Amino acid sequence: MPYEPRVVAGVEITPLCDAVGPMGPPIRKPLPEMFPGSSFGPDEEWVLHFHCYLLRAGGRTVLVDTGIGGADSPATWAPLPGRLGAELAAAGVAPADVDVVVVTHLHSDHAGGCVVDGAPAYPNARYVLQRAEVEWASGPVRERIVAPLGESLDVIDGDAEAVPGVRVLHAPGHTPGHQCVAVGDVLISGDLLHHPAQLADLSIRYVYDEDPDLAVRTRRDLLARAAVLAPAHFPQPFTVLRENR
Ligand SMILES: [Zn+2]
Ligand SMILES: [Zn+2]
Repeated sequence: MPYEPRVVAGVEITPLCDAVGPMGPPIRKPLPEMFPGSSFGPDEEWVLHFHCYLLRAGGRTVLVDTGIGGADSPATWAPLPGRLGAELAAAGVAPADVDVVVVTHLHSDHAGGCVVDGAPAYPNARYVLQRAEVEWASGPVRERIVAPLGESLDVIDGDAEAVPGVRVLHAPGHTPGHQCVAVGDVLISGDLLHHPAQLADLSIRYVYDEDPDLAVRTRRDLLARAAVLAPAHFPQPFTVLRENR
């Protein structure tokens, strides 16, 4: 079942849990190699949550990320299949109801559910992606996700308003066109950071960031402006950074 929603600046934010589980082969590594410079217990295991976020803003329905996708997803390292469809249904949303899909980036655990049977999974939605991300995409991602979106693709350059009250912020580093979503002082942060250890120390890099130094600068910049974080992979869907609300 979906988590309890939070209402911020008139926008209802409902976290949806697509999956929970450890990272599997082929990309699993010990935690100290995933997050160099951070310390972990000897038997500490990283159990990832895979969160998407449903926004209801002034009669418009926005979905942030499309999850892992079905059993045929390219995210073979993630718990398959994702259950986003059931989560959306439990929240009373059919795929055709979604007006806007914001894809934080084109990694398979965020974009794996964009396309079903070669067509956009959300048939009435425009799919908001950064130009830098679309240009960076190659191989199966381009063929299986970007190309089938066709006319549904809404390519933006930098920050933009997805719908009134919902802003998209270019947040490069993890990938060139990674983007976050800001609703008031809540930051739906995608893969801006991955593990709570990176919140304790913002300089902790993640082994799969495309540009780790840029990722650190972006992290510092965006976290300084947020009061509540809604990250994709933390155990909790919301983390309060400061109580100045
Ligand atoms: Zn990612
Ligand atoms: Zn991710």
